[in-house]
Amino acid sequence: MTVTLPGSRPEPTSTATAWHEELMERRSAHNYHPLPVVVTEAEGAWVTDVDGRRYLDCLAGYSALNFGHRHPALVAAAHRQIDRVTLTSRAFGNDRIGPFCAALGELLGKQMVLPMNTGAEAVESGIKVARKWGYEVRGVSEDRARIVVMAGGFHGRTTTIVGFSTDPDARGGFGPFTPGFDVVPFGDAAALAAAITPDTVAVLLEPVQGEAGVVVPPPGFLAEVRRICDRAGALMVADEVQSGLGRTGHLLATRREGVDADVYLLGKALGGGIVPLSAVVADEAVLGVLRPGQHGSTFGGNPLACAVGSAVVDLLGDPAVLAHARDLGRELTARLGALVGHGVVAVRTAGPWAGIDVDPRLGDGRAVCTALARRGVLAKDTHGATLRMSPPLVATVEELALAVDTLGGVLAELG
Ligand SMILES: *Cc1c(COP(=O)(O)O)cnc(C)c1O
Repeated sequence: MTVTLPGSRPEPTSTATAWHEELMERRSAHNYHPLPVVVTEAEGAWVTDVDGRRYLDCLAGYSALNFGHRHPALVAAAHRQIDRVTLTSRAFGNDRIGPFCAALGELLGKQMVLPMNTGAEAVESGIKVARKWGYEVRGVSEDRARIVVMAGGFHGRTTTIVGFSTDPDARGGFGPFTPGFDVVPFGDAAALAAAITPDTVAVLLEPVQGEAGVVVPPPGFLAEVRRICDRAGALMVADEVQSGLGRTGHLLATRREGVDADVYLLGKALGGGIVPLSAVVADEAVLGVLRPGQHGSTFGGNPLACAVGSAVVDLLGDPAVLAHARDLGRELTARLGALVGHGVVAVRTAGPWAGIDVDPRLGDGRAVCTALARRGVLAKDTHGATLRMSPPLVATVEELALAVDTLGGVLAELG
């Protein structure tokens, strides 16, 4: 199968795009600075903008769209559930939450699931569970629990979470912050070991740092974190909101390294790109510390989200899905590797997930992404001259090749 993109495209000043951009600029808070693309429709790996231009989506909603836009099995599950019941609150049971939690727990080899909505909520919930576990199971004195986190990490936008962020944009102006966190350099096992105290209840980390630019830790680091946690009697909490559910070509980025965390935090792709759905996944010895009234969410575990989540679990249970993701990863790594020295300074990949450091002399990441969008490929810059590509796992090898070739063309043009 060959794939093509429309050739030269007009500047994004055409009527509908400009109209929507101005309205968004005037009426929606400026907490984002979107590329000049206004999407109105999407299917699989492709989106269409309000002026009829098509783009290959190589961001995939920061991995919330791992299965592409409107995957037929996920849309069908959502439709079926919308016609039955969508929200019950947890004041009552519903016939979707049990099967979803059982299926997700079984997929990950853990006993219990706490369903929430957004990734940040999963992280907040994980922090609360780790602290309570520390007091009740480990016997840490009241209000003394500490959690070690990694510099450069990203875990969401709540006040507690930005409080332990090392990104000045994320935390500046939002204090005062929640105490109880110790930050160590990512990938530095000696620093982690040195930061552990008798009050350390957990180590919270992304196994691959996504927002930081797909930063992969040195080989053996995750296994070392596991050993340090075991020695300290602390929980290893893996934030796999972005790295999990197929993004690295494996079910989980920790499992790619043969490591099993005590607590998994999931989000993004868990909702199939249709609904917000996140989860804390752990054994009963950990999640069992939550008792009625101690934690909750109005929308958490709603039947619509659970129906979609169950369909996502079904997709991930198909070995062909992960095998194709690994094929995409090999293609991405090979093609991006060939660009090093041709406008690209360095590339880091973990399956079909890449951080690409562009030669800063060619322009910042945003300039490159804007030029890429004009040529029909959507990707996103992060931190200066770094580009992130995370194509949907349903993209074909040909589509991915086209995206990287387009990037090569853009860099040659800027060079
Ligand atoms: C996106 C992300 C979050 C936050 O998820 P939201 O749904 O935006 O709240 C947390 N952790 C990681 C690793 C993420 O990539």
